[in-house]
Amino acid sequence: MKTLKNYINGAWVNSASVDTIEVLNPANQEVLAKVPYGKDTAKDVAVATETAFKAYKEWSKVPVMRRVQVLYKLKSLFEENKAEIAKIITNESGKTKGESFGEIQRAIENIEVACGTPMLMAGDVIEDIATGIDEMMIRQPVGVTACITPFNFPSMIVFWFLPYAIATGNSFIVKPSEKVPLTMIKIFELLDQLDIPKGLISLVHGGKESVDAILEHPTIKAISFVGSTPVARYIYSKGTANGKRVQAQGGAKNPVIVLPDADIEMSSNIIADSVYGCAGQRCLAASTIITVGDEKREIKDSIYETVKSRTTGYGWDDNISMGPVITVESKSRITGLIQKGIDEGATPLLDGRNTSVSGYENGNFLSPTILENVALDKDLIRTEIFGPVMSLISMNNIEEALQFVNSGNYGNMACLFTSSGASARKFRNEADAGNIGINIGVAAPMAQFPFSGWKDSFFGDLHGQGKHAIEFFTQTKVVIERWPNIWSRKF
Ligand code: NAD
Repeated sequence: MKTLKNYINGAWVNSASVDTIEVLNPANQEVLAKVPYGKDTAKDVAVATETAFKAYKEWSKVPVMRRVQVLYKLKSLFEENKAEIAKIITNESGKTKGESFGEIQRAIENIEVACGTPMLMAGDVIEDIATGIDEMMIRQPVGVTACITPFNFPSMIVFWFLPYAIATGNSFIVKPSEKVPLTMIKIFELLDQLDIPKGLISLVHGGKESVDAILEHPTIKAISFVGSTPVARYIYSKGTANGKRVQAQGGAKNPVIVLPDADIEMSSNIIADSVYGCAGQRCLAASTIITVGDEKREIKDSIYETVKSRTTGYGWDDNISMGPVITVESKSRITGLIQKGIDEGATPLLDGRNTSVSGYENGNFLSPTILENVALDKDLIRTEIFGPVMSLISMNNIEEALQFVNSGNYGNMACLFTSSGASARKFRNEADAGNIGINIGVAAPMAQFPFSGWKDSFFGDLHGQGKHAIEFFTQTKVVIERWPNIWSRKF
């Protein structure tokens, strides 16, 4: 069984750590590789940072028009290798084929937007801000930057940051999730083909020890993190205490309100996809569905019928709508939460716990679960489940539903289904969440827009993607100039 290498200074190298953990296919527990882990991975971060600093010094002098040329090549390499990357994503994360291709497309779109960096990083000038004095603001790279990413989007999330970081002149270190490191191995084989300085983009494996080394290294100036809220909070506080810029995207608990005037069929299909897509392991997965004024149960019955027909299985097989969850521990945590909810009074309309997939009996499979009458103050409603579980609750009107939405700790996404413009406008204006969907189930901002979590879903100021990413990866410098008017002198 191969142990994965790091990619440092433009070469594949062994980790300083001899400790490893296994990377498992969640559909059948097949061991796919071993990934370096443990305290000596901190040494890998130190070497990567040293070479990244040298590369940044060279790269930041390359004109921005030339820097973005490597992104055009990277886009082509991604397109040519899409199917291979998608299969790796499915095998290590459990996603369906369509979901794996979908996230690669989102990564490519970020590369495309970052190709606009020659315009996006332009500064400002005011001539004659005072008599004979000009003032300008220019943007310069911050230096060595790094990202730490979660398991649930093995390719896409790194690209909320990487293309912007290098286009603006920084070097970049990637620390992927130890649960899904193989996707980045393939992507770094593509990055290896780019004409860039050695050390400009590095890959280091590991868990907490390599993350702590990133947080502590004085040469690393900016950190982008995506993962669970407790770790996001830790990264933000430790990183900023060490004087770094940090953007840390955390977990979520996303509510969806369905008003009586919503299109029932459309809403049911979209909501089912939001809750159960990626087996509920999306930070934008809907989790609590609040129906308003549905005395006849029309919406609930329609959701139930739609969800019932979803198929669970190995993600690369045809006609599968949901793959396994990431680990055995994750499956038992989710089933535990379902049981706790039932013990606290919830009624299961669909119970997906006893699921077995023929040929994949060892997989971490769960089928869709729908729970009704869930107590509002209990864990099922308040904690991130990160699994294929829907809690169905009812409220009397939009005000009550909005009050419930805004009472949660998280603020990643909130959605409304309605055919009323006035209700949509009220919701857009009053919901306390950074990503809002109106008749949309997964309000994922496209690459042009910031991925705007609020409250416990985000720590920092500038988010990933688009103009926010350009700002995050650059520091502003203001120059005030006066030039003596030599022509007015008498010689
Ligand atoms: P996680 O927090 O367990 O791990 C994320 C990264 O942090 C990994 O690279 C991991 O190695 C590292 N890490 C884990 N524990 C650490 C510790 N104690 N100290 C330092 N580093 C540590 O998250 P996960 O389980 O991989 O991903 C799922 C979570 O990510 C969910 O909560 C989900 O909502 C969140 N997520 C958020 C967004 C967003 O945009 N807000 C997007 C995707 C996923």
